[in-house]
Amino acid sequence: MSGSSSQYQQLEKLGEGTYATVYKGRNRATGELVALKQINLDSEEGTPSTAIREISLMKELKHVNVMSLYDVIHTENRLNLVFEYMDTDLKKYMDSRGDHGALDYATIKSFMYQLLQGIAFCHDNRVLHRDLKPQNLLINNKGQLKLGDFGLARAFGIPVNTFSNEVVTLWYRAPDVLLGSRTYSTSIDMWSAGCIMAEMYTGRPLFPGTTNEDQLLKIFRLMGTPSERTWLNITQLPHYRTNYPVYPPQDLHAIVRQIDPLGLDLLNSMLQLQPESRVSARDALKHPWFAEYNTPARQDPVDMMLHPSNLMGPPQIPSSYGM
Ligand code: AMP
Repeated sequence: MSGSSSQYQQLEKLGEGTYATVYKGRNRATGELVALKQINLDSEEGTPSTAIREISLMKELKHVNVMSLYDVIHTENRLNLVFEYMDTDLKKYMDSRGDHGALDYATIKSFMYQLLQGIAFCHDNRVLHRDLKPQNLLINNKGQLKLGDFGLARAFGIPVNTFSNEVVTLWYRAPDVLLGSRTYSTSIDMWSAGCIMAEMYTGRPLFPGTTNEDQLLKIFRLMGTPSERTWLNITQLPHYRTNYPVYPPQDLHAIVRQIDPLGLDLLNSMLQLQPESRVSARDALKHPWFAEYNTPARQDPVDMMLHPSNLMGPPQIPSSYGM
């Protein structure tokens, strides 16, 4: 742990997250903008030393697609996490779009590639996210996408309520987690990535469930109700019931209408109900849908989005920021 909070000037509030209130800040020495995440510690429970150790480890996790944690400042009843400053997040970005939040093809592909790069890097380092959603995918005005809050779920547990007691969204949560699995692994982040990909196409959450049970039913209605035959040992999971309505799998193309066949193949491989069948982030990056990023004359996904002369649609990012 290093630094003191007086090193940073606190500016306006940026938002409320799962664990913290987030402020814009400025490093007094360098003038650099930062995001200050203030986590109020429960005074009765004392210092969560394992949480602090876990979080401090995140400082070592350096990748262009993972939001950098610069500093962890621990005061008596507060933990201040100092992150690199980002201009917006994917939720706000989609909300600001004219076309009901749907994004264009080049932007979706670039964001998905960057999302998967960030996930693959964290998984290679044995860190799971556990709570990926558009709100914690941060975007800057260079068109870079970075994962926020990586590792926080390990430090604090998978969130149920936010610190301000709002219910945490279940929309991106994998069916194995909803069924109470405790042996979940890297594949839980791939489920979220699939939900996010579909949402970028449609501008609407794919599975907007209201409760644990409703969330599972929304998933089963589209992906088909699983059974021992399609998901070995599902009946052993703690929250499994034997009397789910039996839905046949639907064609995702009917919901995600703008998607091309290769993109649909990738999306289906991320949205496999059985966790072992879900594609890994490393393999997803090699999928033919990303061919233009993986050729010998490798294209940069950020450049491709901002100058997509060889893709479809006009550049979208710079004009839409307005900040
Ligand atoms: P989170 O705790 O990540 O859910 O963030 C809560 C809010 O703070 C979201 O609306 C984000 O847009 C914003 N936010 C989080 N991290 C950053 C950052 N590094 N730079 C700018 N805004 C951020």
